[in-house]
Amino acid sequence: MKSYQFGEYGHALQLMDQETPTPQGDQVLVRIRACGVCHSDIHIWDGHFDLGNGRKLDISRGRALPFTLGHEIAGEVVAVGPIAAGVSIGAERVVFPWIGCGDCPVCDSGDEHLCSRPRALGTSVDGGFSDHVMVPHARYLFDYADVPSELACTYACSGLTAYSALDKIRESAAGRTLVIIGAGGVGFAGLHIAQALFDTQLVVVDIDNTKLQAAKEGGAAYVFNANDEGAAKEIRNLTDGGSGAVIDFVGSETSANFGLKILGNSGVLIVVGLFGGALAVPLPLLALKHITIRGSFLGSLLQMSELMELVRAGTVTSIPVEARPLAQVQQTLEDLRGGRILGRVVMVP
Ligand SMILES: [Zn+2]
Ligand SMILES: [Zn+2]
Repeated sequence: MKSYQFGEYGHALQLMDQETPTPQGDQVLVRIRACGVCHSDIHIWDGHFDLGNGRKLDISRGRALPFTLGHEIAGEVVAVGPIAAGVSIGAERVVFPWIGCGDCPVCDSGDEHLCSRPRALGTSVDGGFSDHVMVPHARYLFDYADVPSELACTYACSGLTAYSALDKIRESAAGRTLVIIGAGGVGFAGLHIAQALFDTQLVVVDIDNTKLQAAKEGGAAYVFNANDEGAAKEIRNLTDGGSGAVIDFVGSETSANFGLKILGNSGVLIVVGLFGGALAVPLPLLALKHITIRGSFLGSLLQMSELMELVRAGTVTSIPVEARPLAQVQQTLEDLRGGRILGRVVMVP
C-alpha cells in the first residue's frame, strides 16, 4: 500500500510503502479510485486553525504520525472482513469518512460527524492520499451509480458540507434569495446542490472574477465581486432589503461581515468556511432584525444518504473537477492554499 504521509506538522508529504492491511470483523478494504483535496487537509497538515487576533486553535492532538490525509474517497471494494455484510467485492462506493466512536450520546443521535472521540478517515485515522483505505463498516459506503469516481468522491466532504448547510435554510430561503459567499470547492457544490433542492434565486459572491464567471455558468442568477464598492448595497436592493439566507463558505472576518450586511429581516447566516478570524456582531441587530447566525460543520450519515439519493437520481449537476496523479498531491495542497484551484482537484492513485 502506497500512501503520501506527513511525519511532522507542516512538513512535506512523503511517499511511504507499507503492507496492505487485511480487513478484520466488519471492516471493508477499498482500493481508491479518486480522493479530493480539501481546505481541511491544509488545516490538519498545519496542525492549527487561525481564530483571529493572533490566536490559534491547536488541532495537532489525537492523531498518530506519520499521517495520511484525504477524506473525499471513492473506490472499489477489494476485500471484506469475515463478518462484513451489505457490500460485495467489486462494488464501487463513495466513503462517508466522518466516523465517530459509535458509543456516545452524539453518535447514538446519528451525529457521528460531531463526535468528540472521532475515528474519521483522513482527519483522525489514515485516509485517502493512498491507493487503499480501510473502512470500519459497510454502512459508511454509498453507491454512486454511473457518476464518475472523480466527481463521486467530492460528495463525501464538499458535497455533504454544502448539503448539510442547505438543509438548515430550507424555510428561510423559500421564496426569497439565497446568497452563497465563496465559489471554492464547497461553494460550487452548494450552488449545484441548491438547484436540485430549491426553486430559489441564487446569488454568488466571491473576490475572483474567474470563479464568478464559472458560477454564472453553473446556474447563479447574479454574481458579485465583494471587492466592488457598492456590492452589498446592490445585493440589498436586489433582494428587497436583504437576503433570506446567506451561506458563508469562506468563514473569514471579511466574508462573514459581508454576509451580515446583506442579511434581511428574519434572515439566517450560516458560517461553514474555516478560513479564520473573528466576527463582531452589533447585538441590537440580532433582536431588531430577528436574525440567526449559526454554524454548520460537515453532515450526518443520514444527510449523506439523502444527498447520494439526489446524486443517483441525476438531479445534481457536476461541479468543475480536475483529476491529477496522486504523486502531485503536495503541489496540489500548495495550489489550494494559494487559491489557484477552480472547483475541486481530485487525486488519482
Ligand atoms: Zn473536506
Ligand atoms: Zn461518539
